Amino acid sequence: MTNTILVVEDELSIATLLQYNLKQAGYDVLIANDGEDGLQQAMKHLPDLILLDLMLPKRDGMEVCKELRLHKIETPIIMLTAKDDEFDKVLGLELGADDYMTKPFSPREVLARVKAVLRRSKVSTIIAMNTGADTLENGEKMYRVGDLVVYPDRFEALFAGEALEFTPKEFELLVYLLDNKNRVLTRDQLLSAVWHYDFAGDTRIVDVHISHLRDQIEENSRKPKYIKTIRGLGYKFEEPKQL
Ligand code: CA
Repeated sequence: MTNTILVVEDELSIATLLQYNLKQAGYDVLIANDGEDGLQQAMKHLPDLILLDLMLPKRDGMEVCKELRLHKIETPIIMLTAKDDEFDKVLGLELGADDYMTKPFSPREVLARVKAVLRRSKVSTIIAMNTGADTLENGEKMYRVGDLVVYPDRFEALFAGEALEFTPKEFELLVYLLDNKNRVLTRDQLLSAVWHYDFAGDTRIVDVHISHLRDQIEENSRKPKYIKTIRGLGYKFEEPKQL
């Protein structure tokens, strides 16, 4: 799978140079010219790595970095700084940058760092994969599975950065599935947990809601990556397979 790298850099010559060299090395490259655009693209495309300039129009690199980490987006970040920038390395690393480089740098140096950071992040992604709900700094719960991010307290869900629309029951069902990730749930179980039916009700209502959920979060509802049908049993929410 090709890794995608987001370059957030307002100096056109540097952005172009990085883009050229990264593409030559086989990466997909996205370019943003200011901090706001960088943030938007990072949330929308969830790149594998971000090269983030420190001094940027609209929002500086530190703010972008902080904002991404607040949203629990753990994409590795290499901060690009100029010699004269008053960059506090310790603070930068505390805010969530993984590494930093001081300009001017050679393309070869950048590629070596990119490779090293990507290698490290692969290892930590595998370790982090089996976690359920995260807790944000303000105590709010959040789920992140693949491209899906759900904030149950806010009745909000995003898929690849785009807001989704649900009925309250669909949302409740989604959160219940997330809470029971990787577990097979029967239609009766779902009916009793989400609809509070304590008798054998019509389970078709479950199927209808599942199909609405799939319409929103599956690229192809016939080949779902997240909400799997377990024949003869019910449904299971899974982490989508990478590669
Ligand atoms: Ca700059």
